[in-house]
Amino acid sequence: MSELTDLYQEVILDHNKKPRNFHKLADANRTAEGFNPLCGDEIRVYVKLEDDVIRDIGFQGSGCAISKASASLMTSSLKGKTRAEARALFERFHRLVTSDAEPDPAELGKLAAFSGVREFPARVKCASLAWHTLRAALERSGEKVTTE
Ligand code: ZN
Repeated sequence: MSELTDLYQEVILDHNKKPRNFHKLADANRTAEGFNPLCGDEIRVYVKLEDDVIRDIGFQGSGCAISKASASLMTSSLKGKTRAEARALFERFHRLVTSDAEPDPAELGKLAAFSGVREFPARVKCASLAWHTLRAALERSGEKVTTE
């Protein structure tokens, strides 16, 4: 089990150091801003949504390793997904970081790396900030969300 934890930690550290899709999207048609005042994490998510499919997605911002890695893994997981699929994945992710149920790696892929976050309630907001911001971007454009 501790080997698995190490592996998960490695995934988070890697995505914090080299965040994927860490850029503004010039042709984004959906965007939203998120803020986690508890930790100071700030993020802006850019989405190019076409025919209800996330064709491209990027993010910018600053914050702790958990928030950055979460945004990086989220954007990597969502390219090519429909809005409904993105919503379903958000629900799975949310369960992963808030409930005691064992994560299903087949369902979550690398996102399972965040299973340890549930031990640290303050970190749950860091891990879910990108997802809340994405939801705001997909539902309404330009709204600022906050975890508080
Ligand atoms: Zn944070």
